[in-house]
Amino acid sequence: MTAKIGLLAIGQADATVLLELKDGLATVFPDTTFAVIDAGLPMPRRALDKNRGQHRSDIILSEVQAYAVKRKNLRSVLGVVDADIFVSELNFVFGEAACPGKAAVISTSRLKPEFYGEPPNNELFAERVLKEAVHELGHTLGLKHCTRSSCVMHFSNSIFDTDRKQSAFCDECYLKVALSVNNLR
Ligand SMILES: [Zn+2]
Ligand SMILES: [Zn+2]
Repeated sequence: MTAKIGLLAIGQADATVLLELKDGLATVFPDTTFAVIDAGLPMPRRALDKNRGQHRSDIILSEVQAYAVKRKNLRSVLGVVDADIFVSELNFVFGEAACPGKAAVISTSRLKPEFYGEPPNNELFAERVLKEAVHELGHTLGLKHCTRSSCVMHFSNSIFDTDRKQSAFCDECYLKVALSVNNLR
């Protein structure tokens, strides 16, 4: 049986982003299918940090986790949010995941060229979303950060790191993904 991963919109996430992501992810992960979950979740109110004007990624991740354990047919669930998210020790994060685990979350907020004062570019945006989604789902399979700057598992400290890396795993990471996917089936 092929592993199935659910894509879940949380709050204001754009449905087209999830559909594009579904197709992109299928080209990267072996023996895995992806499905957009019809009904998204509302953004948990308690995730908003009013002082920072950002949302807490750990709270969103725990909501995704709670949802994922109920969906026994899914290997894992990737939550997609439009809001800017952070963890206490960092100014922001592009995403967060259980490593290994059933839940991951990404934020599209800082992946938009507009965020950096640049003109909208859907192709670039979709590529960035795919990279961050692959990265966080890689963590759910137990992968740690990779030292190769072109590998999707390289840590992104800024959008420059995201743009520098590919949406694909390096050979070494790909092998880990393939082993992990097969063990979890
Ligand atoms: Zn990471
Ligand atoms: Zn790698």
